[in-house]
Amino acid sequence: MPHTPTTTALRGCLLSFKGNPFTCPPEEALWVEEDGLLIMQNGKITHCGPYTQTHQFLPANCPVTHYPDSLISAGFIDTHVHYPQLPVIASWGDELLAWLQHYVFPAESRFADKTFASATAKAFLTELLRNGTTTAAVYCTVHSHSVDAFFEESARLGTRMIAGKVLMDRNAPTALQDTAQQGYADSAALIARWHGNGRQLYAVTPRFALTSTPEQLELAGTLFNSQPGLFMQTHLSETQQECAEVKRLFPNATSYLDVYDKAGLVGPRALFGHGIHLHEQDFQHCHTTGCMLAHCPTSNLFLGSGLFKLFDAKGPHRPVRVGLGTDVGAGTSLSLLATMGEAYKVSALANGPKLHALQAFWLATAGAAQSLHLSHKIGTLAVGMEADLCVLNPKATPLLAQRSQSIADTLFALMILGDDRCIEATWVNGHCVYQQPHKGL
Ligand SMILES: [Zn+2]
Repeated sequence: MPHTPTTTALRGCLLSFKGNPFTCPPEEALWVEEDGLLIMQNGKITHCGPYTQTHQFLPANCPVTHYPDSLISAGFIDTHVHYPQLPVIASWGDELLAWLQHYVFPAESRFADKTFASATAKAFLTELLRNGTTTAAVYCTVHSHSVDAFFEESARLGTRMIAGKVLMDRNAPTALQDTAQQGYADSAALIARWHGNGRQLYAVTPRFALTSTPEQLELAGTLFNSQPGLFMQTHLSETQQECAEVKRLFPNATSYLDVYDKAGLVGPRALFGHGIHLHEQDFQHCHTTGCMLAHCPTSNLFLGSGLFKLFDAKGPHRPVRVGLGTDVGAGTSLSLLATMGEAYKVSALANGPKLHALQAFWLATAGAAQSLHLSHKIGTLAVGMEADLCVLNPKATPLLAQRSQSIADTLFALMILGDDRCIEATWVNGHCVYQQPHKGL
């Protein structure tokens, strides 16, 4: 077979999931090939298996990048993050509603300038790749060109991203408000421009119930249901104060989730950030409708919002789709490793089962892909899947180097002690887009 420049290969310890570690013993859900080979062509995995059996399929002269001491996983998936909030990460002292007023809205106002939006989008996507994240569900700002800026950079990198223009027609500074009609028209134009354009996917993005009128939510529902494959992202039940305010503004709704449901915003590919203060009937409704909750532990701890009931949500009698979100800027890290570590601590505080390392890694890869209804494209290492990879160095720091034992133990140490230092390389669409710079001795 002649070598084409689009064919590349990676050799090393391959790590992926063949099952759901919330419904079977976690070790049984894992797939490991200690000396494996991945061959990628035109952005997709064409071969994936033990080196000894797979190297015969290597085209002549195909470059093989060997990571002898690393773990090769599907790229991480961040299911909830705000790129315009990168400049206000680690801002002190407020709970959600005051924090939005004091830090977030002023920061988002700067995106009236497209040049600033483009520079921030570039910095943000560079950070994602440095952290091994290859897909994310991303909020832009109310400005249409903030979405263009983001997708233009994502298209240049070849990443599969989900993003959308924030809709806000009340309870925000005038400069950040659209109207129900204008928000609808702008979103429709962005959908036509970007949804399904290469690897880019659009999410209709009302910020949350407090900043949208019922009319705007209604029109967001019309957009969301206007064509197959569209996403919808918003916030749900993050703090008690927010929940009380939603009750006041929507007295006829039976619950916070019902506000969105009445507007046609609940269903497959509806992504709800947080969902901390939900009740059994809400979990039941999430399960039935196929929507997803994004668990954002670093953000929830930082703002003091509360503890997400992960094992309640994942109850085997009516499992809810869940992904992990960094929720930067309220989140304190763009690293999914750090986010897994905080999810473990939240599970410990919740006094229920402790999050297993393999459950955490599943939530950041295969589980997130399933929750997003994208598991046929991303989230696992298998033939036919898109070639987005994260190469982890389990000995990236002195503390980690003395902790490596079984695979589950190594992964647990990585999520408790690891961060961007452990990302050896990130591959997107079959190409290396980030390589950890090696320090001299
Ligand atoms: Zn958020």
